Amino acid sequence: MHLSSPMPDTNTNPDEPKAESRNFIEQIVDADIASGKWGDAGDRSVVATRFPPEPNGYLHIGHAKSICLNSGLAEQFGGTFKLRFDDTNPAKEEQEYVDSIIGDVEWLGARWEGEVRFASDYFGQFYEWARDLIAKGLAYVDEQSPEQIRNNRGNVTEPGVNSPFRDRPAAESLDLFARMKAGEFEDGSMVLRAKIDMASPNMNLRDPVMYRVLNAHHHRTGDTWHIYPMYDWAHGLEDSIEGITHSICTLEFENHRPLYDWFIDAINKDRGEPIHHPQQIEFARLEPTYIITSKRSLKLLVDENHVTGWDDPRMPTISGLRRRGFTPESFRSFAKATGVTKYKGSHDIGLLEAAVRDHLNTEAPRRMAVLDPIKVVITNWGEHGDESRIEEFNAVNNPNNPDDGSRTVTFGKEIYIERDDFMEDPPKKFFRLGPGREVRLRYAYWVTCTDFIKDDAGNITEIHCTYDPQTKGGENPPPDAEGKVRKVKGTIHWVGAHDAVDAEVRLIDRLFTAEHPAKAPKDDEGGWSFMDNLNPDSMKVVRNAKFEPALASRTPSESAWADGIRRYQFERLGYFCEDRDSTQSNLVFNRTVTLRDSWAKNAGK
Ligand code: ATP
Ligand code: MG
Repeated sequence: MHLSSPMPDTNTNPDEPKAESRNFIEQIVDADIASGKWGDAGDRSVVATRFPPEPNGYLHIGHAKSICLNSGLAEQFGGTFKLRFDDTNPAKEEQEYVDSIIGDVEWLGARWEGEVRFASDYFGQFYEWARDLIAKGLAYVDEQSPEQIRNNRGNVTEPGVNSPFRDRPAAESLDLFARMKAGEFEDGSMVLRAKIDMASPNMNLRDPVMYRVLNAHHHRTGDTWHIYPMYDWAHGLEDSIEGITHSICTLEFENHRPLYDWFIDAINKDRGEPIHHPQQIEFARLEPTYIITSKRSLKLLVDENHVTGWDDPRMPTISGLRRRGFTPESFRSFAKATGVTKYKGSHDIGLLEAAVRDHLNTEAPRRMAVLDPIKVVITNWGEHGDESRIEEFNAVNNPNNPDDGSRTVTFGKEIYIERDDFMEDPPKKFFRLGPGREVRLRYAYWVTCTDFIKDDAGNITEIHCTYDPQTKGGENPPPDAEGKVRKVKGTIHWVGAHDAVDAEVRLIDRLFTAEHPAKAPKDDEGGWSFMDNLNPDSMKVVRNAKFEPALASRTPSESAWADGIRRYQFERLGYFCEDRDSTQSNLVFNRTVTLRDSWAKNAGK
C-alpha cells in the first residue's frame, strides 16, 4: 500500500480542457440551423439525436461518450434525444442487457423523449419496405449458399459475380420472401439481397444482404418472425422512422453511409410522400488507454470469470465504474475533455481519473480510515487526567465545502495508525513517526514515539508514544521559555481504538497493465492474448481496516449523492465509496482512485 505525502486536501488537474471551441458536429448543426435544412422547429425538431445500443452486453465507457454526445447536442440545441434498442439480432440479446442499459443511461443523467424504443417494433414496416424494393426490382431472393455468396463477392481488386437468381421475376421473389417470413425454410437457405452493383468499389454496395432466414425466438417479438433484418438494412430506417436528423455513429460506419443513403433513396423512388432522410455523421470512437471497449471481449472476461460480473468494479462498463465510485459528472467531464473529432487515437484514462478526483475533491466528505492498522499506546494519557477518558475533537467534513459542516472524532489512550506511517529506522526526510520523532495526529494532538514492541518474528506489534496536552486540536504548542516555537513537519491520520469500526476495503486498480491491451497480437491458436495483459494486482482486498465510526452511520447529509452511493475522501489515501455488498454490520468500501496518479510517467511506480 502506498501512502502519499501528508494531508493533501486539494487536487489539481493539469489536463483540464482549454477554452471552449465548437467541435465539428456542433459546427454542422450550426450550419444546418442557419440553412434551415431540417425546417423550422415545428413538428420535427431541428436537432433529433438518439443512442441506439444493441442489447448484447452491458454498456462501456465508449457508450457513455456516445450518450453524452447525443443527449448533450439535443440539450444544447433544444432538440430531442431518444433511446432506442437496436434489437435486430435475436441470438445474442437478452432482457438483462436491456434493463442494465436503461439503468445506465438514466444514471448518466441523459433524459430521453417519450418511451424507450425498440427496432423490433418496426419489423412490420421494414418488411413492407422490403417488399416495395422487390416490387421495384431493387431487391431479390438469393438461394445461393452462404459460402457461394461469400465467394462471389469478389475482393478489393476484383469485382463480384452476379448471382444466378439476381434477375428472377419480382413476383417469384415476393412469393419466396413471404414464405421465408412464414417459416417455410431452414436457417441459411436463402436471403433477400439489395440489387445494387456487384462491381462497386465499395464492398458494402455489392448486393448486400437485407434479410436472412433465422428461426429464432426474439426477446420481444417471440416466434412471430422467421426472418430478421440485417443491421445495415434496419439501422438507417430506424433513424428515419424516428425523425432523427443527425445520426451520429463511429468511423467504422463511414463506408456504410452510401448504402444507408441508397436504401432510403430506393424506398423514396416513385413514392408520393418521401420518408425522412437522416444525415449520418461519423466521429472517432473513444479508446481509453488501459482498458478494452468491445462488448465481445468484455463478455469473455465475465464468462471466463476473470471478473465477478459485468459490474465488477474493475470493469470499464458504466455499471462497473459506477460501482467503483465514478460519478456521472466525471463521465461528462471525460467525454468533453476527449473531444469530438475524426482522428483515430487513444485517450488517456488518467483524464477520467483526474475528472473524478476533481469532482470528489469538492463534493466528497473527508473521513479517517486506517487500512493497515498498527496500535499506538499513549503512555502518558493517565498523567493528565483519568486514563479511561475519551476526548472529543471537531473534524471538518470538507475544507472545500463549508456547508458540509463538521463531525466529532474521539481520542483516547489507544489509537490505530497506518503501519507504514512508522519506521524503525527512518531516513531524514521521513516526516512521520519513528523512535524519538514527533508527529501531528490530525485534529488531535502531537505525539512523540518513545518505544515500540516486536513479536518473536520481528514484526512491530505496538508503538508507544507520549502526547503533549498543549497541542490540543493539533494546534502548535505555545513558545518555550526562550520564545522558540516547536515545529512538526508531518501530519498523519488515525482512528481511535475504543470506537473503531472494522471494515473491508477493496483496493481497485487498473484491470490491464498494458496501455493498449486490445492491441496485443493473437496467440498461436488465434486466442485472445489481451488476457495476458490482465493486472494480477487489480484488486487487493484489505479485511481488517479500521474506520472512524462516522463511516458506519448514514447521516442525512451523507445521502446527498443523487445515486445513493456514499462517497468519501479517506484522508491521505484516496477516494472511496461504499460497495453494494456492504451492510450495516459488514462494511465494504471500494477505492475509486488514489489521491494522485501513481501511473503517470515519472511519478514513481
Ligand atoms: P462494441 O464494439 O463494444 O460491441 P458497438 O458499437 O457494437 O460496441 P452498440 O450497442 O452498437 O455497440 O453501440 C451503440 C452506440 O454506441 C453506437 O452508436 C456506437 O457508435 C456507440 N459506441 C460504441 N462504442 C463506442 C466508443 N468506443 N466510442 C464512442 N461511441 C461508441
Ligand atoms: Mg454495434
